[in-house]
Amino acid sequence: MSEYSAKDEDNDDWSKEEQIDNITCSSSDCENDQHCFRNKRPRLGSYRNETCVVCGVELIDWTRLDKKNLQDVEYTFKSLKYEMVRHHYWHKKIDEGALRHAQRYGFDGLKEWTPNRLLHSVGPASDDIFRDGMQTPKVGNIVYYGQHATASCCRKCMEEWHGIPRSRPLTKKEIAYFTQLILLFVRDRMPELAESGKKFGRQARSSSRQEQ
Ligand SMILES: [Zn+2]
Ligand SMILES: [Zn+2]
Repeated sequence: MSEYSAKDEDNDDWSKEEQIDNITCSSSDCENDQHCFRNKRPRLGSYRNETCVVCGVELIDWTRLDKKNLQDVEYTFKSLKYEMVRHHYWHKKIDEGALRHAQRYGFDGLKEWTPNRLLHSVGPASDDIFRDGMQTPKVGNIVYYGQHATASCCRKCMEEWHGIPRSRPLTKKEIAYFTQLILLFVRDRMPELAESGKKFGRQARSSSRQEQ
């Protein structure tokens, strides 16, 4: 009986793998330089695997990444794009709902909202989060895209990429760091986004200059 329940637990663990379109956190396409640095089932160990778990390539200077230096963010972003799932979110088309939401909030609104989103979705320790790894939706909000792209979507990705143990809550400093990463992502993906939000409705539509 005890053997059976152990197996059962394992199956349960597998079902928790984050599915993103058909790309999951463990997808890879090594020939096209899209790898996977995530330990699949580390149990008590870390989700970080320093080399690609599929082809073994060593591409990332983790010590440099762990400094969390915003002056060096280009290196951080370049590194993240070596992982297939991150790459996907850096390039994937932003859905209409997420675009509209961002325009309604404006950059300033997103700046205010992002730390709260982080605090509630990834602030607590992994064990205190309901189904850690599933808490960040795939569409509907540019910040969700940013969370997946910068590996701040769940405590497992944060451990893998940012070396933060999943067993403890995030610090204020860490939340501020991830907020900056996400806002830089928003600037990159929506360079035209206005600082202040706008109301949608008849007035907004009639002032639109889309038609020539
Ligand atoms: Zn690889
Ligand atoms: Zn994640």
